This record gives sequence, structure tokens and C-alpha cells, in this order.
Amino acid sequence: MIRARDGEAAGVSIVKGACPHDCPDTCALEVHVKDGVALKVSGSAAHAPTAGVLCTKVARYTERTYHPDRLLHPLRRVGRKGEGRFERIGWEEAIATVAARLSAIAAEDPEQILPYSYAGTMGLVQGESMSQRFFHRLGGSLLERTICASAGTAGHKLTLGPSIGVDVEVADQAKLIVFWGCNAITSSVHFWARAQEAKRRGATLIAIDPYRSLTAEKCHEHIALLPGTDGALALGLMHVIVRDDLVDHDYVTRHSVGFDELRERVSGWTPTRVAGICGVSEHEIESLARRYATTRPALIRANYGLQRVKGGGMAMRNIACLPALTGAFRDAAGGMFLATSGNFTIDNTALSRPDLLHGRMPRTVNMSSIGRALADASPPIRAMVVYNSNPVAVAPDSVRVAAGFAREDLFTVVLEQFGTDTVDYADIVLPATTQLEHLDIVRPYGHYYMVANNPAIQPLGEAKPNTEIFRLLAAAMGFEDACFRDSDEALAQSALAEDWDFTAVRAVGWKRIGAPAGTARFAAGGFGTPSGKVEFYSAEAAAAGLGPLPDYIPPLEDTRSELAKRFPLAMISPPARHFLNSSFVNVTSLRAAEGEPCLDIHPDDARARGVADESYVRVFNDRGSLTLRARVTDRARRGVVVALSVWWKKLARDGKNANELTRSDALTDMGKAPLFYDCLVQVEPAYAAQTLEAAT
Ligand code: SF4
Repeated sequence: MIRARDGEAAGVSIVKGACPHDCPDTCALEVHVKDGVALKVSGSAAHAPTAGVLCTKVARYTERTYHPDRLLHPLRRVGRKGEGRFERIGWEEAIATVAARLSAIAAEDPEQILPYSYAGTMGLVQGESMSQRFFHRLGGSLLERTICASAGTAGHKLTLGPSIGVDVEVADQAKLIVFWGCNAITSSVHFWARAQEAKRRGATLIAIDPYRSLTAEKCHEHIALLPGTDGALALGLMHVIVRDDLVDHDYVTRHSVGFDELRERVSGWTPTRVAGICGVSEHEIESLARRYATTRPALIRANYGLQRVKGGGMAMRNIACLPALTGAFRDAAGGMFLATSGNFTIDNTALSRPDLLHGRMPRTVNMSSIGRALADASPPIRAMVVYNSNPVAVAPDSVRVAAGFAREDLFTVVLEQFGTDTVDYADIVLPATTQLEHLDIVRPYGHYYMVANNPAIQPLGEAKPNTEIFRLLAAAMGFEDACFRDSDEALAQSALAEDWDFTAVRAVGWKRIGAPAGTARFAAGGFGTPSGKVEFYSAEAAAAGLGPLPDYIPPLEDTRSELAKRFPLAMISPPARHFLNSSFVNVTSLRAAEGEPCLDIHPDDARARGVADESYVRVFNDRGSLTLRARVTDRARRGVVVALSVWWKKLARDGKNANELTRSDALTDMGKAPLFYDCLVQVEPAYAAQTLEAAT
């Protein structure tokens, strides 16, 4: 796994790694190491789906790893919660302190202890392995990990089964690619490279997005619908396809159930009706439907942004019907691509050992409602252990989240690489290693290769891998089960529920799982639904009370609602190009590239409010307010404002980010996910930039 390559500078070794970040592409990395120091990180050209190209964020990974603000020693809080003032302590004291507090709380009721984690690393070893074993053994509350993808995943599953998207390696053979809620240039750069190749070969690219993103502006066509109306648009497209008999009847007959019911359902979703809901023209709907149904291969690249609204699960369910209706699944390069996670059978039982619960059934807390849970869960949450996440910045309804973390009676432990917004509220901070310093295996959600990560350098300072930290905590709490002594190599080997050899894979760097490239996975059906077919009619959905057929569920904060009289603008907060969720915000060069927290607003909406370009605006609703710099631009459609995210609150001028305005009192129709993009706001001028600059 470590070798010197021909032509490398003397003494430089290449260590094979895997990008751990919450991005579908999971690039295979080459870490250039000399004298124990990582000099640079590059992509591995031999890794077929990513081909040696890294995004701007990870191309600067050494800047992140050797960042002067890395947390290198355990810390104990000395200031007030939220102040971020700490003193250095040793590991022994840190572990003993945490173990003593958790033991005391657990003796009363272990459900009062809550883990909080997500995709700070996508690695299966440093993610939910030893950590979950620890909490299962402890009997702590279980966490529903819903913050990103659960609504869309649930909707996709009802129609098509698990997400086994089109192989990115053949996407360049598509003749039509629909980027549906997908800014691939920011969020799926290797898919975008294939789409560019497809474009060179004559393919048409169409973006469906409320925002003229970097991707949308490079597509042939951009349909700028209102946020939360994607489900209606999909129904309108199906209406036209059925009305004009552009249906692949042979495919539908062989490989789907419920077509008659679907035909009946979509008959009422005329382009006139749908255009009124989506805020687009009838012509756009008619034209897209006909082009989609008559072009082969046709590929829908959907992404998770569109499911961050009340009807997000249903919207994805509707979109997933389209490739079955037209027979797009017949082609390897045709069909649906939400994710490829369903291609892999991860052995979560081996990794996280739920048997350690010994029959206990702790309560479940939804991470998307953490602010509310901290305020009123019963029994109360008295301790939180946060790892691989930064909830004070990324969770919705941020005012409430911060208030919860500020509770003096809450004992908070945070495993982190940097002093995030959440770290500022910690009682004890435990320094964690970065991807260059630990071992892992990463399952992608944008291609078909498991990618291994070898440690390239020794941990910096006193940082430790998450696995090691939970081993130490387990030992300190007297958990003697043998599984707490498993090595990281053993954890990696246990990650896949199939016969494979992690040792061999880490030497190569990756291993393709499942069908060979170029296979049309669903040409002959074989979907992972209860019937094995595309389920236009879902008995499972009916049993769950969701309605068996595709439908439209409007946003809770609809631009046509009473609420819109006070807050007439729909705000979305998609990823900023140089950040990844809240990771990388503290990397100076990347933050400089983003500038400062901004609000894109259409010229007409700006004019109506007396908002000038580059001026500061107050953005507000009943949940809160924040100040952003206005960018007056028609990238944002009329009626929609866009706050690229997720900024660390403490790195913003007013100590706030867009989650000040998002809600946590309601969840999506399926998957219990947050409504980040179901958010009405109003905008007004704040003060002149000079005034603010003088004041800060
Ligand atoms: S963030 Fe995505 S594109 Fe960037 S290096 Fe990681 S996997 Fe590749």
C-alpha cells in the first residue's frame, strides 16, 4: 500500500487513500509522503470512476490536515458554554472524566445519553462501528440519522427499491441527461465530467433547479421551478407521456405494477395545472416530456436537495416512475441515478453489534429535531457524545439547537478535528485524526467501488482515531466484551457482507462490487421492491398510510399560502462550491474563495425591497433573522432567494447561518427528514456595508 513511484522525487512514497467526505464520488487518493510528512494529495488516475481528478476542496487536503487550528490535545471547558474557551488536559484525565460522567448518568438511565453523528466521515470504520458498539453496550438512546437523504431514499425505495443508480462510467453514453435538483459541478464533479463528454457527443443536458447553479448555466436548458414543486412537475411529465402514448408498453407490462392506476392518477395533472404550481410554462413541461420520452439513452441524475421539503419523499417517488414509463431502464446509460449505495451490502450487524443491547430497546431520537429533543425529551437528554458532525451549524432551527447545547445541565463530549461551532459548547473535547492519519474503508454513493484508506502519516499531536477513542472509553467504563479489542483492520474486513479480502483491497486501493461496467442493471427488471418490479402502485406505501400512488404534497411553507403574505420569498440553502456541508469552512483559501455569507436575490425582488447589489440585507421569518450580503442576480428566480451554505456561524459577521431560519417542528412525508428548503422568508435592507465594516 506504500510505494515509491517511478519519477517521484527521492524519498517520496505514495500511500493509497480514499476521500472520506460526504460526496458521492469517493475519490481514490494518492498521498505523497516524505519523512513522515504528507506533501500533497492527488487523485489516482487508475481509479476508473474518478480518474485522478479531485475537487478543489480535497486537492488542498494537506492544508486542512496541517491547519494551525487543528485540535491536537484533549480539552476541558473553562468558559461559558458557547464561548469556546478551554484548557488542555491529558488523555487519561479526559477519558476518566467522560467515563465517570457517562457512568453516573447511565446508572440512573442510559437513555439520557445520546450519540450524535453523521457523515463527517463516510468511512465505515471511523463512522458507525466501534462507536455504535459502545452505545449499544451502554444502552444509550438510538439516533435516527435523517438529516440528509432519508426522504429521497424512502421515496426511491417505494418505486424502485434500493438506490442502485446508473453507473457513472457509462453516463457519457447518454443522449439526454436531466440534472434534477443536482448541481453536479459542486456535488458530483465526476458525473459532471462524464456529462460533459456526453455533451461533446451530442447529448442534451437539462437542469431542473430553482437556482441557475453552475451546472444549470452550462446545460442546454434550465427549468427553474419553485422549490418543493418537483413532485408536481414529475406528475405533469407523466401526464404528457401517457396522454401522447409515449409509454414503453412492453417494458411497463413486463416490469411494473399499477400502470392502470397510475394512468388514472396522472390524468388530472395537466400541464396547465402543473405550470401553475411549479411556476414554469406549459411549453417547458410539454417539451421536456416529449424530449425525455423520445430520447435514448435518457438518464435522470437526481440529487437530495429536492427532497428537503414536506413532500420530498413523494417527489422522489414520482421522479423514479419516469424511466420505467418510457423504458429508459433498457439502456446501461439510461434510467435513474440518485445514489449507488444500494449496490453494496454493508454488514452493519458485524460493524455495530446491536446484540450488545442484550434485548434492550432504547428510545430513538431524530437528529433532525435535536433542538426540540434537547428542550423537552423525556427522559431528558443529559449527555451528548458528538462525533463526525457539527449540529450547532448544520441542524435546522439553529436558535433552538444552540439553546439546547447551552444547557448547563447537559454534559457534552465532542470528538473533532477543529474547533467547530459545536465544539464551542463542549465540556470535553477529544482530538480526532483526519483521513491521512487513520485506516478506513469507504462505501461510495456515486460509483461501484469500495475504496480503502491507508494511514499515510502518524496522528498529529495527541489526536486519535474515533475507533481508538471509543475503545478507551469502553475500557474505562468496564466494558470487557472482546469486540472492543477488534482492530481497525478487523472492522474493515467485517464491513461487507460478502467474501472479500480487505488486505488485498487496501494494497490495490479499491474493489468493484457487483455487475461489470456497461451492464443495463434493470433492462430485464429485477428491482428491489416487494414485487421485484417498478411499483407505480405500492401496497407498502398504502400500508404505511402514505397513499399507494404518486401524488403531489405541497410545501408546508407554500408560496401560495397565507404565510406567504408575510414571508413571500422561498429560501433554499444549497451547498457552496468550496464547502462540503460544514467541512472546509475553516480552510482559509476555500473560505476566501466563497467570500462571505451571501443571499442571491432576483433583481425584481431586490428592486421591490430597495435592496442594492452588495448591500447587506436582513433575512427573517418567525424563527429568526440573519444578515447577509445581497447579490442581486437572476441566478435566483423571482420569488426565490438562495443562501449558499453551510457556513460556520462563528465565521459569519453576525454569528449566524441560514439554519437560523429553517424549521424543526415538522418533517418530510417519508424518512423523517428536515425541511431545509421548505422555508419562507422576507428580506429588507439592513445597513450599508461601510457601516457594518466599521462596526466589526
Ligand atoms: S469531495 Fe468528492 S470530488 Fe472531492 S475529492 Fe472527495 S470524493 Fe472527490
